[in-house]
Amino acid sequence: MKTITLLGASGSIGQSCLDVVRQHPQAFRAKTLVAGRNAQQLVKDALEFRPDCVALADTSQAAAVAAALEGKGIEVLAGHDGLLEACQRDNDICVSAITGIAGLEPTLAALASTRRLALANKESLVCGGSLLMQAAQRQGVEIVPVDSEHSAIFQALHQQPRKALRNIVLTASGGPFRTWRAEAIAAAKREQALVHPNWDMGAKVTIDSASLMNKALEFIEALYLFDLQPRDIEVVVHPQSIIHSMVQYHDGSYLAQLGAPDMRSPIAYALTYPDRAALSVEPLDLVSLGRLEFEEPRHADFPLLKLAEYAWQAGPAAMIAFNALNEEAVAAFLGGRFTFGAIARVVVEGMQREWNQAIHGLSDIQDADKSARRLAQALIAR
Ligand code: NDP
Repeated sequence: MKTITLLGASGSIGQSCLDVVRQHPQAFRAKTLVAGRNAQQLVKDALEFRPDCVALADTSQAAAVAAALEGKGIEVLAGHDGLLEACQRDNDICVSAITGIAGLEPTLAALASTRRLALANKESLVCGGSLLMQAAQRQGVEIVPVDSEHSAIFQALHQQPRKALRNIVLTASGGPFRTWRAEAIAAAKREQALVHPNWDMGAKVTIDSASLMNKALEFIEALYLFDLQPRDIEVVVHPQSIIHSMVQYHDGSYLAQLGAPDMRSPIAYALTYPDRAALSVEPLDLVSLGRLEFEEPRHADFPLLKLAEYAWQAGPAAMIAFNALNEEAVAAFLGGRFTFGAIARVVVEGMQREWNQAIHGLSDIQDADKSARRLAQALIAR
């Protein structure tokens, strides 16, 4: 029986992870559940999964959660400190699925008391990649990716000698605007961007998929996770999202991982690696599928993807700014404050500044994040 600390329990990945646990009650126990503000979902899951502890970032709802769980033997923690305390409770696997840079500090805190980090929160690698990778190594924590693309690469790289690797091919669905004209993309509204053609995900990552910012974040995530250079990664649009990514070896062979677009598969793999668990997911109907297509990304109409390489070359402060500008722009877009095209405008303009502060630790990351958010707000207000 493996115990799990689940950061972001109330979100899309969190709920998929709990479904994997539900399907394997003998193998996994959700021991600690951490959420942001969704007290109702947290209470519902606590009553079903009976963790030892739940934590909520939002202190205003802590009393209501405690009242709902009274007499159940479940500890309730809340607020910043309560959340970090929950992250440090012993477990076998920590699933990191808080959205945005908000996931970085809890993920770092969790490293002290886990053996495996099942990482979905790509923003924590983009903003604190060196810090996180080094801390995991120092504390003997293995990182197994949850992001479907990185899970595919992880699986395709498994047990192959590293020197045999030629490059990796990161696939992108292209999002809902893949075939739209540039003017229509720029004018797109919230409801149009929130409809992903293949995946059912949280709002922020769905918007990032529409702008290809998600692929930009994943590009940086792959550089850290697999110790690569930008020249080692090719991004290809694959509208069906069936090939989750692939690896090319020097003998010309490609190893790909395929499956239906269902996050429960990579989550289960991150929990069971190096084994595999049975899972009730839809099998692929290859004949009905008929064909798999591949296209070049339309860089001129989706400028954020190319900025990933620029941010990486410019260094840690630039990657933090890249993420923060986008988080603020996406929040403004989701709040109905502007149309889709303004997300890229804010990020592209913000990245024209010099972002070269020295980054030595978490507080430097948080300072750089705050300063980029201030600029983003000024650009949004224009
Ligand atoms: P959701 O928006 O669905 O869920 C986010 C989770 O984070 C919620 O549980 C939310 O709590 C919690 N949260 C947000 N802010 C805070 C905070 N300040 N403190 C504590 N908890 C917080 O996102 P997803 O599940 O879609 O994505 C999560 C991460 O996984 C992202 O980094 C995303 O890029 C990555 N990912 C997601 C995929 C997907 O299919 N969804 C695929 C691959 C990667 P609450 O709702 O209670 O406020």
